[in-house]
Amino acid sequence: MIKNLSKTKSTSKTSSTTSETLTPANYYDRWTDQLFMSATWFKKFLACEAEALAELQGKWEPCMKSTALVVGNWLHSYFESEEAHAKFVDEHPEAISSRGPSKGHLKKEFKTAESMIEALADDHDFNLLYQGDKEVIVTGEIGGYPWKGKIDCLNLKQGYFVDLKTTDDIYKSYWNPETREKEPFVYAYNYPLQMAVYQELIKQQFGVTCKPYIVAVSKQDPPDKQAIDLPEYRLTNAMNQILGSQQHIQDVIKGRADPIQCGHCAYCRSTKKLESVVSADNLLID
Ligand SMILES: [Zn+2]
Repeated sequence: MIKNLSKTKSTSKTSSTTSETLTPANYYDRWTDQLFMSATWFKKFLACEAEALAELQGKWEPCMKSTALVVGNWLHSYFESEEAHAKFVDEHPEAISSRGPSKGHLKKEFKTAESMIEALADDHDFNLLYQGDKEVIVTGEIGGYPWKGKIDCLNLKQGYFVDLKTTDDIYKSYWNPETREKEPFVYAYNYPLQMAVYQELIKQQFGVTCKPYIVAVSKQDPPDKQAIDLPEYRLTNAMNQILGSQQHIQDVIKGRADPIQCGHCAYCRSTKKLESVVSADNLLID
C-alpha cells in the first residue's frame, strides 16, 4: 500500500536575477530557458552545440523517449504532494491502457513507476531523509550569467538537498571514451554538474551551503534503491567545467560564435552532407 509522505509547506519564495520571475507555471517555458542557463541545457550544449542551439531556438525538436520522461515525472509528482500527483495523473490519461486485455489498467511502464514509488514510500530512512520544501525554484548568477534550478527536496535547516533519479540499474557501468574508463550512471549523466549548480544557487538565494544527496531508484523488478553522495572534488571539477566552457556557450547562444557540430547526434545526421571521404581506419570514434 502506498502511503503519502507527510506534506511540508512549499517555499513560495522565488527570486530572479533578471526582470522576469520564475514560477512553477513558467519554469519549463522555452523563453525562460533563453533567459536562464540550467544544468539540463548546459549539458545539452556540452553534448552538441549545434543541436542544443537549434533546439533552444525552436528549430529542432529532439526525438525523446517521452514515456521515460513522463514515468520520471510521475514519480517526482508523487513525492512533491498529493495534489501535484493527482493533477499529474489527471493530465496523463495515456498511462492507462485503452485496449487489449490490460484495458483500464496502468500500462507496464507506469506499473513499474508505481512499484518504484512504493519502494521509496515504504522505506523508513527515505522518509526521514526526504523532509523539506519540495520543487523549490532557485536562481542566481554563475560566472556572471543568470542560472535557474529546481530542487526536488530542500532542507535548509539541516543543510542538505535531495534529488530523485530514476535509472535502469544503479550499478550499471558506462564507458567514457575520453577517460577510457568505466563510470557509474551518476557520472555518465554528469549529475555532479547539476548538483554543483544547485548547491551554488541555494547558497546565493538562502545563504546556506547544502550537501547534495542523490536518491536513485531503479526500474528493475523489484526496484533497487540507493542514497548517494558525491565526493567534493567531483563538485569542484563540475563547477570548473562550467566556468571553463560557459563563455563560449554564451557566445554561441548570442550569435557571437558558430556552434560546433558533434557530427554524430540526430541533429548532425539530419543536416549532414556527403562532402568528405574518411578512411575506414578512422571510422570508430571511441
Ligand atoms: Zn550533433
